[in-house]
Amino acid sequence: MSQRHIVVIGNGISGTTLARHVRKRSDDTITIISSESDYFYSRPALMYVYMGHMLQENTKPYEDRFWSENRINLRRAHVNRVDTVQKVLHLDDHSTMSYDVLVIASGSHSNPGSWHGSHFEGVQGLVSLQDLSAMESNTQNCSRAVVVGGGLIGVEMVEMLRSRGIHVTYLVREFKFWSSALRSEESDIVERHIIADHGVDLHTQTELKEILGDENGRVRAVLTTKGDEIPCSFVGIAIGVKPNIAFLQESGIETGTGILVNECFETSAKDVYAIGDCAEFRTALSGRTKIEQIWYTGRMQAETLAATLTGTTSVYRPVNFFNSAKLFDIEFQVYSRNVKIPDTCRSVFWMNHHRRCAIRLFYDPQTLRFEGVTLLGVRYRHEVCDRWLREEKDIEYVLCHLSDANFDPEFFRHYENYLVEEYNAKSGKQLQLKKRSWKRIFQGIGK
Ligand SMILES: Cc1cc2nc3c(=O)[nH]c(=O)nc-3n(C[C@H](O)[C@H](O)[C@H](O)COP(=O)(O)OP(=O)(O)OC[C@H]3O[C@@H](n4cnc5c(N)ncnc54)[C@H](O)[C@@H]3O)c2cc1C
Repeated sequence: MSQRHIVVIGNGISGTTLARHVRKRSDDTITIISSESDYFYSRPALMYVYMGHMLQENTKPYEDRFWSENRINLRRAHVNRVDTVQKVLHLDDHSTMSYDVLVIASGSHSNPGSWHGSHFEGVQGLVSLQDLSAMESNTQNCSRAVVVGGGLIGVEMVEMLRSRGIHVTYLVREFKFWSSALRSEESDIVERHIIADHGVDLHTQTELKEILGDENGRVRAVLTTKGDEIPCSFVGIAIGVKPNIAFLQESGIETGTGILVNECFETSAKDVYAIGDCAEFRTALSGRTKIEQIWYTGRMQAETLAATLTGTTSVYRPVNFFNSAKLFDIEFQVYSRNVKIPDTCRSVFWMNHHRRCAIRLFYDPQTLRFEGVTLLGVRYRHEVCDRWLREEKDIEYVLCHLSDANFDPEFFRHYENYLVEEYNAKSGKQLQLKKRSWKRIFQGIGK
């Protein structure tokens, strides 16, 4: 293959993983362009910078010299326009850059919503480094804030503000906190934790109606759909993110909500690919959403495309779903076959209010096939859960071998037997928990 110029728009997890993996297997010239930062950094770590747990410098996974040592050119600029006929990018400093292959990994931006008053000073989302510095200045001398949106970025913003002693009213549209991912009992645990342990003024089933400003154009309060007026000098909007595609308007590249791609990440334009948060599958892959906006799928998509670009045509076939998050002090994990565990699944459930722990094992009531697990305050081994799903183990096998998945020996005696007993009581079976086996745990790893 003759040397090509592969240009990547976006230096996030998707763009940089693509560049690293192409470099491992080819001598192509590689350039990454980003308007946000000089170097790749960990976006999920933004909150820790605000909370003073990390310096911004420490959010960079690689030393600055890594890029030149690996012959990956970095360019700080915004791509204003893509000409897919001439294969040229138009940059905001009026220069141009030509490409042989273009990979768009432009990520997403915060969805601002369309409320009256969204433009007031002190109203913002949180996605980028620029948002982080805006939040830093917008919350100087702030004593009362409102955060809107019951997802992961919303709860992160709440935690950030609480870490500075700011009173936070948290508006969540749903009946229960994060009901798209948690069952009712787990939502209760998290709600109790953020209200009782962290002093958050949580309002579920409440939406933002309007944002009110003062004579200087700064937010002074919000109105809710329940008719309350809540005074505040900061409003965090966390109602989701949208793919960064505005710069593609005149490119002819087909877009929907994101950049439309097939399972090989090909767009409608020749030699142009899209991966990560900005890519939208024309047809959703089985059990998946059309747009995958999480860290590890960005990495997997990039690895798949890098293989194709270096001569091994690869189709994206994500297997099981995994995600993890921190809800204040409670860790959350999910391993499942589908992004959304079907409501038709039955579950075996254990929880410990006091320790803020809960485990729910899902299975198909007809076939007994294990469908996934959600965990609060307990961690399970990725390789073990993933294998159970891949090998289509049934719930009875999983229950008997639960000790293999648990990361934390201190929990052994407390709940695993309880889950087995719970299942036995419901099913009339006599299952017995097996002792943890390291051989089973590491079976298949490294193959
Ligand atoms: C606050 C926060 C916390 C998160 N926490 C988690 C978590 O705990 N776990 C998890 O799985 N996911 C998390 N996510 C989601 C995860 O960070 C994203 O899915 C991931 O970063 C997307 O990576 P990406 O490479 O596709 O895009 P991005 O990381 O968004 O990178 C795209 C880059 O391209 C740049 N760009 C866009 N357009 C242009 C242009 N025209 N010219 C030049 N540059 C351009 C952007 O400025 C950006 O720097 C979090 C997201 C946020 C915002």
